[in-house]
Amino acid sequence: MLTTHPFDDDKLREECGVFGIWGADTAAAVVALGLHALQHRGQEAAGITSFDGRNFHSHRGQGHVAGTFDKDDVIRRLTGQAAIGHVRYSTTGETALRNVQPLFAEFSSGGFAIAHNGNISNAMKIRRELNRRGSIFQSTSDTEVLIHLVATSTYRTLLDRFIDACKQVEGAYSLVCLTSEGMLACRDPLGVRPLVMGRLGEAYIFASETVALDVVGATYLRSVEPGELIVVSSRGVSSHRPFAPVRPRPCIFEHVYFSRPDSIVDGSSVYTVRKQIGAELARENPVDADYVVPVPDSGVPAAIGYAQQSGIPFELGIIRSHYVGRTFIQPSDQVRHLGVKLKHNANSSLIQGKRIILVDDSIVRGTTSLKIVQMMRDAGAREVHMRIASPPTRHSCFYGVDTPERAKLLAAQMNVAQMNEYIRADSLAFVSIEGLYRAVGEEERDEAQPQHCDACFTGQYPTRLTDHEEHDAVDQFALLAERYA
Ligand code: SF4
Repeated sequence: MLTTHPFDDDKLREECGVFGIWGADTAAAVVALGLHALQHRGQEAAGITSFDGRNFHSHRGQGHVAGTFDKDDVIRRLTGQAAIGHVRYSTTGETALRNVQPLFAEFSSGGFAIAHNGNISNAMKIRRELNRRGSIFQSTSDTEVLIHLVATSTYRTLLDRFIDACKQVEGAYSLVCLTSEGMLACRDPLGVRPLVMGRLGEAYIFASETVALDVVGATYLRSVEPGELIVVSSRGVSSHRPFAPVRPRPCIFEHVYFSRPDSIVDGSSVYTVRKQIGAELARENPVDADYVVPVPDSGVPAAIGYAQQSGIPFELGIIRSHYVGRTFIQPSDQVRHLGVKLKHNANSSLIQGKRIILVDDSIVRGTTSLKIVQMMRDAGAREVHMRIASPPTRHSCFYGVDTPERAKLLAAQMNVAQMNEYIRADSLAFVSIEGLYRAVGEEERDEAQPQHCDACFTGQYPTRLTDHEEHDAVDQFALLAERYA
């Protein structure tokens, strides 16, 4: 298990980041830089595919971007003025090189490379059907069904075949595709995962987050709209709306945790929204204390917001070491425990005898919260109050985020009082779903048709979950068969 965030063995994980550029001399080098800025969205593997006007070139590897593209000749071999790239933490499909994106296929019309952020929630069903019709899959990735759907579409042009493919899939997809004709950037009709567009000189860029544009010196133009397909080619740029319009449901968790705080997501500064969530948390759940202490690093902006709203001083009560290699973090419970202690230390001289408000972004399994509270107590804190900058995470995500199965989510098993008892804090409180919506700039949450995907808090999924439902049905059937055998 590879980790970069502190305390992140107990976080939801964004699965992927994508980056594409059309029209730059050193396209692959720009993509590598962009992927560096998106590393937090996937640390397990990275890949780049370029096109030089005649041929496609690919390099994919497991591990971080730096390790995969650190040799000069790797980037030099990825020639051409157009390239797309991908960072990945596995969602569907085993962790194997054949699943590392961009995926590539040679159609009769030419090469086609695809990088996908999201998850196709009916991929298994489509795959079974395609298998029956003779398709042979090269990977276990959900993204590959899109390639086969494009290949088998009866439409004439590649653009129409691509649209036809997208219309058959459910779930979340922000896609950047490279063909010999041009680059396609497409966001699913609900816009679950982000995708932005920028400009670098004459070149056009698409990326999961604006921070990737900043890093390469590009200008942010706008978000790719939910349901929008943008085509960039030597003939220029065109925007298409091939899907029936629906109310967008972008993932609200991008604001809470996934996106970098220096990014703009759907027009809002992530940093500002996180501070607003902290302020809402303080208004909804006040408590008298000496210091507001963030759980580093992801709890910092919300803790600043909490401190500013409450008037209680913000202090760094936990210091994070930036020099702990990820090799320390192994998936066994024993070493996980070691990892937390190596990476974080309580600032004891500050904490001793004080009443502390700890601010974190979320509680997933609860194991980390338990350790941090204990760390504060060991350092002599008189009281430890935990405040969480998201509502309780009660449901799994099926849209490209790594969540444990529902049974392992603490909030799916316990109410807040029981959770408080479990993590052994003096008090525990979460921002309400209404408070979260206010923080992202909505007056109120529309109960019937929420403005965001917030399913991991509410269970109101914005799409059908075909594979999950069928899997559940099979499980239920097996259970019944076993019972009556
Ligand atoms: Fe985001 Fe949660 Fe919806 Fe997944 S279920 S897309 S993490 S809000």
